[in-house]
Amino acid sequence: MSDKIDSLTSDLQHVSTPWLTPFYEKLQKTYHQGRFAHGLLFTGSSGIGKQKIAKQLAQFLLCTNKQNNDACFQCHSCQLINANNHLDFHLLEAEKNKSIGIDQVRLLTEKLNERPQLGNNKVVLIKGAEQLTESAANALLKTLEEPQGDSYLILLARTHHQLMPTLLSRLQQTHLHSPDDQTLINWLYQLGYQVSDLGVLRWFQNSPLALLNHLKLLQQDPSLDTRRQCVEGLFNLLYQPINLFSFSSLIAKDVEQNLLLLFHLLHDIHRLKLNDNQLNEDAIYYFALPQLQLWQIQLSLKSLRTLSTEILTTRSLLVEHSALKKELLINALLIKIKNKFKESTPC
Ligand SMILES: [Zn+2]
Repeated sequence: MSDKIDSLTSDLQHVSTPWLTPFYEKLQKTYHQGRFAHGLLFTGSSGIGKQKIAKQLAQFLLCTNKQNNDACFQCHSCQLINANNHLDFHLLEAEKNKSIGIDQVRLLTEKLNERPQLGNNKVVLIKGAEQLTESAANALLKTLEEPQGDSYLILLARTHHQLMPTLLSRLQQTHLHSPDDQTLINWLYQLGYQVSDLGVLRWFQNSPLALLNHLKLLQQDPSLDTRRQCVEGLFNLLYQPINLFSFSSLIAKDVEQNLLLLFHLLHDIHRLKLNDNQLNEDAIYYFALPQLQLWQIQLSLKSLRTLSTEILTTRSLLVEHSALKKELLINALLIKIKNKFKESTPC
């Protein structure tokens, strides 16, 4: 499953991100006016398109034949950027759960002191800037204090809170916001997805690219058997004496996929509630309709939303931090689900 997600994520580099276009055009304008900052920070949630816009900007800065204010997408430089093989473009990113240390930053700043190899500019992109150690951030500061005329530094982070104030004060910071519903719906429609369910949009509100990924995964129809086991697991969790083990170990087998399936189980219950106890053809738990109809009576909309958020939060925690105690987090989640059902069941 993670391989699948990786390949989908790499597909996304060719997807447009219209909600970022006004910002990108503004950056181009400031460049042509000679007011472009040497240090930029883009913040925003994961899946908002930070990396895409940074890459687009790097292509623009490095293009040797800028046309109509944008990159030409054809020159040697543009081709090398597309092939991830440009000598004046340097990417630094933390390995999973590791920090970015001073040695990595020094290597980069040395490159920034050299002359550009191909065109007139050099671009360094630092992904996950919150992972910079204090000394690494200090090393960057020096570069930002004495910027070379042709060097540009772009930092990406979810929020600015973990960055040193001294570093922040030398960066031009922009927080990237999510598109509104209509922009999101139109964008998905152009990509071939029709989303009429605002619930799904709400859950992925801040991460359009994650939403797209999610829709692509759904299309691939995760195995019916695992879905059946999810319904069975939830049934046993609710009506059998406390024994989390079998459901918990089913989820633990593939946290990324199975928590998404559990999320969809609640999502289909949610749709039943909103849709006169009927499921659309595209519901992935259509085979368990009678059971889901009973469950929708037991859970309020509020409880369903709370639990859905809990599932997605646990899922991202476990996917992003492999060192966390998987079983403990899954069990805690299952107990929350059980308690919500208990709370809502009339005695
Ligand atoms: Zn070009």
